[in-house]
Amino acid sequence: MSSFALMFGSQPSQALYDVIIIGSGPAGLTAAIYTSRARLRTLVIAGSSWGGQLMLTSEVENYPGFPDGILGPELMNNMLKQAQRFGAEIIFEDAESVDFSKRPFKVKVGDITYEGNAVIIATGASPRELGLESERRLKGKGVSNCAVCDGAFFKDKEVVVVGGGDSALHDALFLTKFARRVKVVHRRSELRASKILQERAFENPKIEFVWNSVVEEILGENRVKGVRVRRVDTGEVLEIPCDGVFIAIGYEPNTKIFRGQVEMDERGYIIVRDNTKTSVEGVFAAGEVKDYRYRQAITAAGEGCQAALDAIRYLEGLKSTPA
Ligand code: NAP
Repeated sequence: MSSFALMFGSQPSQALYDVIIIGSGPAGLTAAIYTSRARLRTLVIAGSSWGGQLMLTSEVENYPGFPDGILGPELMNNMLKQAQRFGAEIIFEDAESVDFSKRPFKVKVGDITYEGNAVIIATGASPRELGLESERRLKGKGVSNCAVCDGAFFKDKEVVVVGGGDSALHDALFLTKFARRVKVVHRRSELRASKILQERAFENPKIEFVWNSVVEEILGENRVKGVRVRRVDTGEVLEIPCDGVFIAIGYEPNTKIFRGQVEMDERGYIIVRDNTKTSVEGVFAAGEVKDYRYRQAITAAGEGCQAALDAIRYLEGLKSTPA
């Protein structure tokens, strides 16, 4: 089947798959390249917004093999094509529930239940929220989690970025292409971001830092008008007028549909042993769904490879063990 047909609506058949991969970031698609190249019948449930966090990134400078950098969406499109080239079937819908109580494992997508003898969970993580009512109410009305998606709406405007990690500085630097001024509100007086991004941000005349401060409220009725912040050291409260607020305070694992099915820690990350094995034999996990430490595209891709090799070995073991 052509990659075009797979991308635009043709439904994969419902026979038993060797491997079902849930998720289509670097972990999921790398796993798909390995399992389909090993001639295993592979289904990728890619999600309605496929490709993971790199789809929301501009330039990726630290993925080896691209000395001049590569755009995040371009990198993910390349991975998708590579998986399809070896015959991986892809559906661009969300998995709604799973049943890992016995093999073949079941994954429900809309009205269809897919079955697989092995499953690789690679659903990644989603942006963390501040948890404010005003944040939810003004989402899409000046509040955003994606500078690359929404930055262009803020030409010559004032924006606030919340956070002190790589994402916050990456977003702040990107936003200087459009905004008149970018204020980074961080809860400590020291950044978590990598030194190279810190240097670039400190050198950029459009970027200012508001240290030791937490956002208590996003101001505005139907449109962002500003933020109210409180200094954590002095308790002082101040209002910063702005037109946009970009929340970049890290990520949370996308593991809701796996609750009660595989073991997780108290934050919802899937617990693995022996690299990629979950608490259910035959179900593996790779990438940010289990990794809160490294969280890089390259480490996710590496774990996708590990999970695929573990699934291949597991399926070979099934063949040699009588049912
Ligand atoms: P992160 O490294 O976990 O940083 C999150 C930041 O948000 C921290 O500074 C944290 O403050 C702050 N924060 C967390 N919860 C908060 C809350 N409730 N209120 C206010 N502030 C809060 O997350 P990230 O920046 O998204 O990065 C995630 C991973 O992706 C990292 O491994 C990073 O290296 C990688 N990444 C890389 C690039 C790149 O260009 N290479 C770009 C983006 C992301 P504290 O510092 O006080 O904890």
